[in-house]
Amino acid sequence: MSNRTKRFMLSEEEIPHYWYNIQADMINKPMPLLHPGTKQPLKPEDLYPIFAKELSRQELNQKDAWIEIPEEVRELYKNYRCTPLVRAYGLEKELGTPAHIYFKNESVSPVGSHKLNSAIAQAYYCKKEGVTNITTETGAGQWGAALSYAAKAFGLELAVYMVKISYEQKPYRRSIMQTFGAQVTASPSMSTRAGKDILTAHPNYQGSLGTAISEAIELATTTPNCKYTLGSVLSHVTLHQTVIGLEAEKQMQMTGEYPDMVIGCFGGGSNFGGISFPFMRHNILEGKKTRFIAAEPASCPKLTRGKFQYDFGDEAGYTPLLPMFTLGHNFAPANIHAGGLRYHGAGVIVSQLLKDGLMEAVDIEQLDSFEAGCLFAQTEGIIPAPESCHAIAAAIQEANKCKESGEEKVILFNLSGHGLIDMVSYDKYLSGDLVNYSLSDEDIADNLEKIGDLV
Ligand SMILES: *Cc1c(COP(=O)(O)O)cnc(C)c1O
Repeated sequence: MSNRTKRFMLSEEEIPHYWYNIQADMINKPMPLLHPGTKQPLKPEDLYPIFAKELSRQELNQKDAWIEIPEEVRELYKNYRCTPLVRAYGLEKELGTPAHIYFKNESVSPVGSHKLNSAIAQAYYCKKEGVTNITTETGAGQWGAALSYAAKAFGLELAVYMVKISYEQKPYRRSIMQTFGAQVTASPSMSTRAGKDILTAHPNYQGSLGTAISEAIELATTTPNCKYTLGSVLSHVTLHQTVIGLEAEKQMQMTGEYPDMVIGCFGGGSNFGGISFPFMRHNILEGKKTRFIAAEPASCPKLTRGKFQYDFGDEAGYTPLLPMFTLGHNFAPANIHAGGLRYHGAGVIVSQLLKDGLMEAVDIEQLDSFEAGCLFAQTEGIIPAPESCHAIAAAIQEANKCKESGEEKVILFNLSGHGLIDMVSYDKYLSGDLVNYSLSDEDIADNLEKIGDLV
C-alpha cells in the first residue's frame, strides 16, 4: 500500500515531438468540408482568408499520420508539460469499485485547462506567417484565457468575443484575459453586423458560441493582417490536443496497464479527441478493443440526440459547411454552467467516428455533473472545471458498473481543467440553485427543421 505509485511523469525529452493525425488512419475519412457559397469541397486555399495557412493545411490533411511539433511550440509546452497521469485511489476507495481509475491532469497548465495546447500552436503559426492581429470567441473563457497568454508569448494583438452570459457569470476569466493584454468584448455586440442583426431581433439574447464565432470571423475578415482562431471543433485543434493522449500512452505503459475505457467531456471534441485518438489508433490498426466515451451535457446533446448532416459552425453562416452531428447552428443552449460544452455541433472527425461505431456518447444532467465533481474534489483534492465534471460523472458510472459485475476494468479519463475560477457555479450548486434542463424530442426536431437541408 505505502509503496504504490500515484503520479506518473515523463522527462522533457519524452514530451512528444509529433502530433497524431487520426485522419490518415481512418478507414472512412471524414466527408469534405464544403464552401458555403459554391457548395464545392474545400481546398486549403479557401481557408487562407480566415486561418493561418499551415493551420488550413493541417485542417484538411488526410495523409500524414504524424505532424512535427515546431521547436518553439515544444519549448512553451515544457513550461507545463508533461502533465501528470494520476491513479485516483481516493475516488476508487470511496466508490468501492474494483476498477482502476486513472486521470490525465490537464488542469496544471498555467491557465488551468487543456486549451493552451492548441493556443500555443495557433499563435505560433500566425506569427510565423507575419500576422499581427488575431481574433477569437470564448464561452466560459478558458479558450480566451489560453489564447491571451499564447498571443502575448508571440507578440500578437488579440481581440476576444466572450459569450455574454459567461462575461457576466465568470468575470475573473475576463480579468485573466485582460491581464495577459487581450481586448475582451461581450457577444453579441454592436461592433459587428452579425452581432447587430441578432441583437435587434432578440434584444435580451444572452449569447452563444455560434454568435461569438460569427463576430470574431467577421472582424478577422474585415481587418488587414488579422486571422481568426478557434478553440475546439476543428480538426487542427484536435490534432494539437493529441499531445495529451500521446503522453498518456507512455504514462499508461509505466503503470503496466492499458485502458479498457477512455473518457472525455465533450464540447466540440478537442480534449476528448486529444486523449482518445492515440489510443484509438491501436483499435484501428491492431484490433484493440478499448471503448471511447464522450460525455456531453443533457441540455446540449448533439452526439446522443443530434442529427448527422451538413451544417454551419456559427450562427450567421460564415463558416464552411461541416458534415457533423448537430442540433442546428441556430440552437440556443440552456444557460448551464459548463460554458465550454454549450456548442451546437461536433467536430467532423468525431462525427464520422461516432457514425462508424468507433466511439460512444453519453449525456449527463447538470446536477449529476456537479455531484460527481464534488465527490472527486473531496476524494482527490482537485476542484474540477464544470465541463470536466461530465467526464468524471461518466467515469463514475462505469466504475459503478464494474462494482456490480466485479470486473477490474481500467478506466482513463481526461481532467480537462480545474474549477477554481468557477466557484460561483459551485456556490449555486451547493445552495440548491441549479436545475436540470430537459429538451424534448420535438424541440430538437423543430430546430433542425428550421435550418432544413443546407446542401
Ligand atoms: C473548452 C473546454 C472543454 C470543451 O471543449 P472540447 O473542445 O470539447 O474539449 C472542456 N473542458 C474544459 C476545461 C474546457 O475549457
